Amino acid sequence: MDHVIAIDLGGTKLSWALVDRDYNFLLHERTETPQTTEAVISKLSEIILETSESEQKIVGVGIGVAGLVDHDSETVVASPNLPLTGVPLGHQLNEKFDLPCSIDNDANLAILGELYSGAGRGKDNLIGLTVGTGIGGGIVLDGKLWRGQKGAAAEFGHIVVDAGGPRCACGNLGCLETRASGTAITVAAKEFVAAHPDSQLGKKVGGDPEKATGPIVSEAARSGDEAALGILAEVGRWLGIGIGSLINVLDPQMIVLGGGVASSIEMALPSVKEAIAQTVIDPRSKDIPLAISQLENRAGLLGAAALVFEGS
Ligand SMILES: [Zn+2]
Repeated sequence: MDHVIAIDLGGTKLSWALVDRDYNFLLHERTETPQTTEAVISKLSEIILETSESEQKIVGVGIGVAGLVDHDSETVVASPNLPLTGVPLGHQLNEKFDLPCSIDNDANLAILGELYSGAGRGKDNLIGLTVGTGIGGGIVLDGKLWRGQKGAAAEFGHIVVDAGGPRCACGNLGCLETRASGTAITVAAKEFVAAHPDSQLGKKVGGDPEKATGPIVSEAARSGDEAALGILAEVGRWLGIGIGSLINVLDPQMIVLGGGVASSIEMALPSVKEAIAQTVIDPRSKDIPLAISQLENRAGLLGAAALVFEGS
């Protein structure tokens, strides 16, 4: 059976897997992402070399990169969290190995993973949001990944939902990810603890706003803390406004929420759905299916495999 070496190159974690044609994992490993261009390329080369020594038939390498990727020229156009801006990564690896190497944006690959092996199986029109420190996105239209003219489409984290709102890492004010990401949860938690150091949430961090983080909010929300649930509900409301706007543009069959913060957002799903219902203009879109990804940290790897298998 054919296999693909699938690699997910994030800002902090680098993971890889050997994936078969039925999207089963034969191995799945993870390490810290190296911090220089040379070290990243050398680590990728080592992974490809070692994994291709497997007895399985390997037909290619798919790599998801946390950054803007020009899929056609196999070049990383911009990667604020990786030392790869301007590096023709796919081209360099193709020159080194006998295997075809393809690269794409990691959030694009996450929705491709959902399409072939997750919540989006059998669907033609999908929107995926990867909610973590920021928000990434992917669009599947008519069964195919839609990258836009230059490969830069679906940057949902940077649609402006709160004009004049908080400054985003991209420079704009009020981008969706300033209101609805893991970072937004942390900012809201710090503000809450600063104002209410004696609250349950405040006591959890000894009244120190600097110690208030997204994971602490999620933990408190799970135990029913009202303030923590309120923070998640507000984040969910902003996310719903963003998703509702995307539905108005793209009219998808389904929305898939993935990424490290998706399980926290799940606790605020009624707020997300309410905001979607208020934002969409087509009444038929009010109860559009909204799935929480069940692929956990495998979505990007499954998408990287699909990139090679399906030639998407
Ligand atoms: Zn932005």
